[in-house]
Amino acid sequence: AKKNGKDQVVIYNTFMHESKEREYEITNAIKPSLQNNEFYVVYQPILDFKSGEIRKLEALLRWNHPSMGYIPPNNFIYLSEISGSILELTHFLYDKVFGQIKTWNEMGKHFTVDINISPKVLMHPTFIEDIGSYIKKHEIDHKQVIIEITESMALENIDQTIIVLKQLKEKGFLVALDDFGSGYSSLTYFKHLPVDIIKMDKDFIAKIDKSPTERHFLKFVLDLSHAMSKKIVLEGVETIEQIDILKLHDVDYVQGFYYYKPLEVSQLNEIILSK
Ligand code: C2E
Ligand code: CA
Ligand code: CA
Ligand code: CA
Repeated sequence: AKKNGKDQVVIYNTFMHESKEREYEITNAIKPSLQNNEFYVVYQPILDFKSGEIRKLEALLRWNHPSMGYIPPNNFIYLSEISGSILELTHFLYDKVFGQIKTWNEMGKHFTVDINISPKVLMHPTFIEDIGSYIKKHEIDHKQVIIEITESMALENIDQTIIVLKQLKEKGFLVALDDFGSGYSSLTYFKHLPVDIIKMDKDFIAKIDKSPTERHFLKFVLDLSHAMSKKIVLEGVETIEQIDILKLHDVDYVQGFYYYKPLEVSQLNEIILSK
């Protein structure tokens, strides 16, 4: 909370650190920036923990506005959801990411790529049709795309979410539950959500080397997920101390600044071509 000029207290939610004026400015700049190709995609490697191989990537949107500068995705995604431009932004993402997957396929590098899907997009009546048309356009395999949804969004409309996730899986897409362990997780929902992968939130990993409770929780989630044939990605791995603890557990995948930050395609190509 902070005081504005009129001496009223303004409460910002966790995603927003912008003034109302700037929010308005950002919102209005989204569509022109899409037209001017000012958005781009970076890719953060997700490593197989035991072999260290890069099998998967997470696609993350970036926006460098010519006059406003760098705007973090948490801020513009939130505003694009409110203003409705999230649909166009997501279609831009499909085009960029699926085209890139095809390019990598042609280079003999077959990645699966995670994309983040907002609730507005997931619940849109033509979502399955739309994403399918971009898959067809770029001639890639559905299995190369992992749809990340967040737990809070799944819980907002659990019945409808389950219906859409089942349709996605019928088409051959994989589904991941993002930011697990960050909100009020319920094991009842966990049991019913048809997801293939669980991504443990980075706030959770941040505490892993300091708290035995967190380590017990990690073991519990790993055991339960493996018993249900789900894979786990641990997000936000930053230190060797965290990795030492992960080595004591049956960890599937890791993602974090310790290994790689989100990279531009040219940087990533240098890494994968040297392997
Ligand atoms: P997310 O889906 O949880 O993505 C992971 C975020 O954690 C990314 O932030 C990534 O840069 C950051 N991260 C990765 N490793 C580490 C680490 O070791 N330490 C720390 N402190 N952070 C790490 P980013 O790129 O700023 O994205 C923030 C959020 O914006 C994403 O969180 C996602 O919710 C949203 N977002 C980004 N791109 C898209 C998109 O294309 N569509 C939608 N709907 N949301 C997106
Ligand atoms: Ca994500
Ligand atoms: Ca996440
Ligand atoms: Ca998040």
